[in-house]
Amino acid sequence: MDQRLQPISSELQISNVIPALSPSTRRVLQGNPAISQKNYSNNAFNDDLISSISNPDINVAVYNKHNEVVFANGDSSPNFHEFHDNYKIEKVHQNGRAVLMTYQKVRSNRNGKITGYIIVANQMSYYNSLMKNLLKWMIGISIVAIIVFIGIAFIIVRNIVNPIKEMSKVAHKVNENPTSDVRIRDFHRNDEVEELATSFNKMLDRMQGYIDQQKEFVGDVSHELRTPVAVIEGHLNMLERWGKDDPEILNESLKASLQEAKRMQHLIQEMLDLTRAEQIDVQYPNAVTRVSEVLGRVVNNMAMVHKDFSIQLDIDDLPADTEIQIYQGHLEQILVILIDNGIKYSTDRKQINVSADLFDNEVHIIVQDFGEGISKENQSKIFNRFYRVDKARTRERGGNGLGLSIAQKLVTSYHGTISVDSVEGQGSQFKITFPALSKREAKKLKKRSSKIEKM
Ligand code: ADP
Repeated sequence: MDQRLQPISSELQISNVIPALSPSTRRVLQGNPAISQKNYSNNAFNDDLISSISNPDINVAVYNKHNEVVFANGDSSPNFHEFHDNYKIEKVHQNGRAVLMTYQKVRSNRNGKITGYIIVANQMSYYNSLMKNLLKWMIGISIVAIIVFIGIAFIIVRNIVNPIKEMSKVAHKVNENPTSDVRIRDFHRNDEVEELATSFNKMLDRMQGYIDQQKEFVGDVSHELRTPVAVIEGHLNMLERWGKDDPEILNESLKASLQEAKRMQHLIQEMLDLTRAEQIDVQYPNAVTRVSEVLGRVVNNMAMVHKDFSIQLDIDDLPADTEIQIYQGHLEQILVILIDNGIKYSTDRKQINVSADLFDNEVHIIVQDFGEGISKENQSKIFNRFYRVDKARTRERGGNGLGLSIAQKLVTSYHGTISVDSVEGQGSQFKITFPALSKREAKKLKKRSSKIEKM
């Protein structure tokens, strides 16, 4: 448009501006179609100017130097305002819409003088509606995103909080009643919460186990202590009534009472041993013992005390330097319990065989006797606390039914096993096994233990 007006050398006026525009422009300005039937083939819309000023979005005004409109394509012409350079583009806001304003000075290409101004206001309907739609979509999407986010967050939080709430409820119930058997239900989810619930249930089971054990233990102990106390009380009553004057009763009752007191002492010692056997991993975590040494010592000592017995040791198949992880006092205690039982429950054949070998990295120790033997039914019970096959007879022999429980606790604490094989009337074989230590493992444990000793 600027180029079409440049040939005009005098000030721009309606009379010179309109002819300068193309015939089709004129037609548009006169309210006729831009393309006349006549020159349809020439397609007047090839004229950029026509297409732009016939666009309802674009308001064009041509001003003369006196700020008077000499040409405008719409009902309202864009306002003129002063500008310095030849050309200026700015984005202004009108009625809340962005309008792109273009200001252009028109200079005559003959004398270079300013002849007028062209002001173009582009309403940018497409841009504005695009922006409006974009804003609408963005608000819509944001609202949906916020709702979805809140929904997901709610589900996640509920998923985590619900199990915790349930755990807290269970903990509360167990706290109120430690014997309660309520547990956390299975959440059927393979994650940390399920793991926590499982550990929590295991912990409760274990705690319950300890409580039951303790109850049972207290019950057993009081039951076991009741007999010697009753015996002592009986003798003291007898002494009080008749014993003062009868030296025979006095003598007998004192002897029996002393014997019962001794038995009680022995029982208390065994109960302490049993309790201690449960805390081994805390007390002797690095103890290493050479098996043949302990076997030799224990067999010698027992043979010395029980001269009427033949106690044999066979360790030909056990390498002399075989070591296992156990505190040697405990291995001695286990062997003494087994040999002592062999002696206690012996019949005519007064022989005990102790043998050991190393097989498949395991140390096997066998204590064999030829005594009364144990029935199949009783073999599974003899490791229970206070269990005696024949209560009266065992009591006579000084047994409390604790020896094998102590031995079993000790053996399993050191990752070993204990088992019995017996035929009634023929004898029994008690077998214990322990994992053998490699040279490296033994060295490591000894090093650790000497470090702890130095501390
Ligand atoms: P106790 O101190 O009574 O011997 P134990 O726990 O050592 O307690 O043994 C439990 C019971 O197992 C014994 O009372 C006895 O009846 C039976 N028993 C243990 N060892 C033998 C054995 N070598 N021969 C026969 N019976 C045995």
